[in-house]
Parts: sequence; C-alpha cells; structure tokens
Amino acid sequence: MSNYKNITVLGSTGSIGCNTLEVVRLHPDKYIVKALTASGNLDKLFAQCVEFKPEYAIILDQEKSRILADKLRLHNISTKVLFTPNDLVKVATLEQVDIVMSAIVGSSGLLPTLEAVKAGKKVLLANKESLVAGGKIINQALKECSNARLIPVDSEHSAIFQSLPPNYSVAEINKIILTASGGPFRGFSREQLCDVTPEQAIKHPNWSMGQKISVDSSTLMNKGLEVIEAYWLFGTGLDKIEVVVHPQSIIHSMVEYTDSSIVAQLGTADMKTPIAYALAYPKRIVSGSKRLDFMLSSTLTFEKPDYERFPCLQLAFDALKSGGVAPAVLNAANEIAVSAFLDHRIKFYDINIIINQTMANFAHNDYNSVEEIIEVDQQARKFATSIIKT
Ligand code: NAD
Ligand code: MG
Repeated sequence: MSNYKNITVLGSTGSIGCNTLEVVRLHPDKYIVKALTASGNLDKLFAQCVEFKPEYAIILDQEKSRILADKLRLHNISTKVLFTPNDLVKVATLEQVDIVMSAIVGSSGLLPTLEAVKAGKKVLLANKESLVAGGKIINQALKECSNARLIPVDSEHSAIFQSLPPNYSVAEINKIILTASGGPFRGFSREQLCDVTPEQAIKHPNWSMGQKISVDSSTLMNKGLEVIEAYWLFGTGLDKIEVVVHPQSIIHSMVEYTDSSIVAQLGTADMKTPIAYALAYPKRIVSGSKRLDFMLSSTLTFEKPDYERFPCLQLAFDALKSGGVAPAVLNAANEIAVSAFLDHRIKFYDINIIINQTMANFAHNDYNSVEEIIEVDQQARKFATSIIKT
C-alpha cells in the first residue's frame, strides 16, 4: 500500500486553501494533490496547477476554464479542467481521494462537503457555513458512514478537538469555552460602529483571512457561527457552550471538565497549525507556523462579549435555540448582508437588521434533506436581497 494520501482542496485559491498547500508543500513524501478548485481566480489556480500538477482543476466559469485548459496544455500539464458546481462534488468524492479539505467560503460548500462525508472521506472542515446550515444532515451522514471523519480546521474547534480525549463523555464536560479576539472593533462605541467601513473591518488585528470571515469577525457573527459549529461537532448541547473574549488570540479555545480542570490549546495565530493537525491526525507533522514565545507575549486577558454592540452574536444564539432551518436562514441572510457591506451598499448595523428581518420572515421548521436546506438558503438570500434593494 502506498504511504501517500491523495487530497482534494476545495477553495484552493483562498486563504485556507493557500495555507493548506503551504503545509502540503512541506511534505512531498506524504501528500499528493489530486484536485484543486476555485471560483474565479484564474492566475492563482494556474500557478497552483503548474506546481502541484493535479489530475483535476475546477474554475466555476466556462470561459476561464477554456483559458486555463489552453494555458496548461502549453505547459504540457495534463490536468483536466472542469467548471460546474457538480464537478465540485465529483472531485470531493473521487475514489482515489483520501482527504478532502473543505475550504470554500459560504453555504456553496455544503453539498460537496456532505457528499465527501457520504463517500467515506476524511474531511477537514474549514467551511463552517456548511455545518451551520446543514449540521443535522452532515451528522446523520457521519453516523451512516463509519469510514468518514470530520476533523475541524477552524482554530477554536481544532483547539477543543485537541483538548478532548478520543472517547469523551459529555457528562464529564462542564463547558466548551470558545475564545474570540473581539475583532478589529473591540473597543469601539456604538456611535463609532455606525460609520465603520469595510476597509476597516477586513483589517483583523491578529489573523489574516478571506474578506467574508474578516467582516464576520468584526460583527462577531463569526463567533456566532462558531457556536453553532461547536454545537454540531461536540454534542454537548448549547447550555455548555460559552464565548469569552481573549484579545491576544493565544489560547485558541478550552474545555472545562467536571473536576474544574481546564484543558486548552495555545499557539501563534496561524491557520497552518490547525491545518497540519487535521491533515496528519492522529499524528503530528511540521506546520511551518511560527512558534509561540511566552517571553514576548506574557499577558493573557479575558472579557465578556458585548451583545449590545455586537447583536449578530445574539442572533446566532437565537437561531440555534429556534432550531430547524433557522441557522440556515441566519447564515444565508448574513452572506447577502456581508457582501452588500463589502460593496458599500449598506452600513455596519444594517447587517444585523437584515438578518433579523429575514429570520422573522421564515418559519423555523425542521428539515430532513439537503434539498430542503438548499431551497431555504436560496429563498432567504432572495428575501435578504429584496430588503437591501428597498
Ligand atoms: P477566501 O475567500 O479566502 O477563499 C474562499 C475560496 O472558496 C476561494 O478559493 C474561492 O475561489 C472559493 N469560492 C468562493 N465562492 C465559491 C463558490 N460559490 N463556489 C465554489 N468555490 C467558491 O475564504 P477563506 O478565508 O479561505 O475561508 C474559507 C472557509 O474557511 C470559510 O468558511 C471560513 O469561514 C473558514 N475559515 C477561514 C479561516 C481563515 O483564517 N481564513 C479560519 C477559520 C475558518
Ligand atoms: Mg475561528
């Protein structure tokens, strides 16, 4: 049997995708890149194909896919170029693929992530929106497919995963403590927040990330989505999940046990650490992240999150309490609102208003299939878009 693991990287041109390839690059003896996918960044995808020579590359634009195929042919690279959303499922479920990095942004990642689980892959989950929207069906698929694994990549969830023993009992856990940096607007007053710009929002103090998650960090919706993600990943129930603001981003999250012991994972703010952990789990490999120097960062502080100034965090708790499709509606409305904020079409506090109004317009029914979630996601997007236009 070969020692190599074949990997598909969904969203390879994004922040997590590029970090994944940086870790893979350090281990040519362990990983072979089988497929790379992007929504539209032709130049980056081309450069990645030249370096990793995958069997498949996907770019979600027919014209760009032709250009990419031509350029690769000129370089004598035999990568097959595809361009439809169905092709994302195809490369996430290829028989020879062992590991799927799910690093698409937004609920477009749901279907390929779910199908990779159903195909029994080891799925490395960065795409938190897929669990937020369809946590129930992803967990069902995990139960039905005993070969499949879902390993968290989000730094907080990786920290919790690393702080839990393999067969933990929920009864032994007092609390899952998700740490939050507080984002770029932590000290801002409500008045100041009324006029912040997307340019300010995407300048995160500690982490370098894609635009959507950077805005989510500035509204604290990112932490809200992570609460929902933790709910589906760790099975403790919402009552045991708590958010603590920790501006230094050194403790990436913690678990408090019934004996009052707290186990935490610490490190520098570099996604290559949780990516390497997920890739090699249950082993450890070199990640390329900088090591933490306690002499340079000796202060760790903690604060309560402010639900008044950052209402998105409360909306996420409310959606999870409502259950059913409510988190999918919350997520879809948030995606539309964040995109409008990034385009300067709405202001910071319009984001939570749009989400709130969209949530109020939908019954929070239960769901049993991915088709139902995709339908609700589309409807909620339409509704949120219509509010922005009026
Ligand atoms: P990004 O915007 O930098 O990259 C997104 C990737 O997805 C790109 O390759 C893009 O081409 C692709 N993509 C975008 N829309 C798509 C669509 N509709 N269909 C298919 N592909 C599409 O985002 P990112 O910061 O790398 O985040 C990716 C995911 O990882 C998000 O769910 C985010 O919440 C999560 N995450 C990111 C970080 C981080 O540090 N960046 C940390 C934790 C979790
Ligand atoms: Mg995170």
